[in-house]
Amino acid sequence: MDSLADLVDVASGKEPAAATIDYDMRFDRVDNRVTAVDLTISLNIDMPEWSKAGRRPKPEQDEWERFRRALRFHEDGHIKIYRREAAVMYKKLLATTVQTINTVFTNEKLRIKGLSKQFDALTGQGTKQKDCPDGTTIIKEP
Ligand SMILES: [Zn+2]
Repeated sequence: MDSLADLVDVASGKEPAAATIDYDMRFDRVDNRVTAVDLTISLNIDMPEWSKAGRRPKPEQDEWERFRRALRFHEDGHIKIYRREAAVMYKKLLATTVQTINTVFTNEKLRIKGLSKQFDALTGQGTKQKDCPDGTTIIKEP
């Protein structure tokens, strides 16, 4: 990756960053009753780097920074969904039994993954983001 033009190619097609969620769930039981749920979520955002940005012309650097802010805004959207829905998941897990808790856990992870995909469909993975003050994740040649 040498110039912004090369980045445009990289950015087209698939999302150039990733917001991920990992879960760790444990529970306490008394017979068939779930008496406590310990749900830990780990959130992560991987962002693209452009090592040569500092040696490129100022307009390209500015566009790169704008793109990164728009991309971060999009990834934060995924994180917002994860945080909000993990709370919903926690409540659902508390209402389970020992027999159903693992199924509910699996279904909830799928449900949250689905909401995240829906968000990507709605926003074109950031390329059609409407509410971002820095615009979309489409890189424009200065
Ligand atoms: Zn996305």
